[in-house]
Amino acid sequence: MTVTAKRIRTLTLRGRKWKVRWPVKLVNDSGKPLLGQCHHCCRTLFIAADQPNDELADTLIHEMLHGCFPRVREKRIASAAGEIFKALERLGLLRIPKGKT
Ligand SMILES: [Zn+2]
Repeated sequence: MTVTAKRIRTLTLRGRKWKVRWPVKLVNDSGKPLLGQCHHCCRTLFIAADQPNDELADTLIHEMLHGCFPRVREKRIASAAGEIFKALERLGLLRIPKGKT
């Protein structure tokens, strides 16, 4: 069974409304593929839609943390996002089919 993740268009981070966009492919300025990006300037999270559901959840957590804590370095964001994802998974709250969205 494949479940398509709901493509929410907005979410709230620290009391402020953010946009969420789901491009099929996401690349940086050098053309390197990215899973997600957080743009504080326009309060928008970009989540590459072309990734398995479990990675998509991990990416969303990661980018939400960037949105909440703009001064925290990448390594700490990545570590915290991974820990949150694993905890939600252990709690059984992320029963996500491994397939693509
Ligand atoms: Zn990051």
